[in-house]
Order: sequence, then C-alpha cells, then structure tokens
Amino acid sequence: MRDIGEKPMDSAKPFRVLPEVIARNEHFWRGGAEGRLQMLRCSPCGTWVHPPSPVCPSCYGKDVAVAATSGLATVVTFTLNHQRWVPAPDHPYPIAIVELDEQPGLRLMTNIVGCPAEEVAIGMRVRCVFEQYEDVWIPLFTPVEEGSR
Ligand SMILES: [Zn+2]
Repeated sequence: MRDIGEKPMDSAKPFRVLPEVIARNEHFWRGGAEGRLQMLRCSPCGTWVHPPSPVCPSCYGKDVAVAATSGLATVVTFTLNHQRWVPAPDHPYPIAIVELDEQPGLRLMTNIVGCPAEEVAIGMRVRCVFEQYEDVWIPLFTPVEEGSR
C-alpha cells in the first residue's frame, strides 16, 4: 500500500487506497490508459487467469500473456456500504463482485457506478469504466443501457 498522506478531497472521485503496481499486475492496473480491461490468458488452452499468476490453473502451462477482455460483465453479488470508513461523498455505495463474459468464474471485486446505489441488482449487466488516480486506472463497472449492445 502507498502512503496516502493528507490530500484535499476531490469531490468528483472517492478516496481510494491505491494498489502497489508491480510487473506482474501492471497490465491490469494500467490497461485503463488505453481503455482496456486486461487480464492474463493462457495461450495454449485459452483460460483467463485472474488474479495474475505465471501458471495457468487449468493446464499448468506457463505460456500466459496479456489480453484485453470485452469489459462486459454481470453482477454476481453486491452489498451497499453505509459505514463511513473513508471520507467519500457518495454513501451508501455498492461494492460488487462481477463476472466477466469471457469465462465462468472470471470475477473481480469492484464498485458499481453511474446509477443510484439502490438500483444495483444481482444479474445486472455492466461494463467496465475506469477512474484514474495518479498512474493507476481503477476498473469500475456501470450499467449497460438497455438495447445498447
Ligand atoms: Zn492453460
């Protein structure tokens, strides 16, 4: 974790503790600079590998490479956070686990943004959007508008 220090609160962006970006996860945290939600994918068998690992959990091969996902996902589960752990302006806010279209079980924890918290629902179709903090692009998800696919 980085030392956050005292910073003026940006009302447009909630407070976030940023990840430590290292060689193994840089594709994930900085893919948003190109608008891409990137994950590792096994070249021989096609299995997506997330969190990043040098070995494919399906075939145990070591030929994994960075690839762009569609960024499309479905809300698997979520909770609304009411506790003011951090000085963010938007309470309550949804903390969700979403599953990407690419593969069953390819999930990540994120926030749902761009809609009222009480409208978030299990099964909701969402797409990835990014929020930039310094040199990190945080993947967040927003509802897919009906009929826009
Ligand atoms: Zn594999």
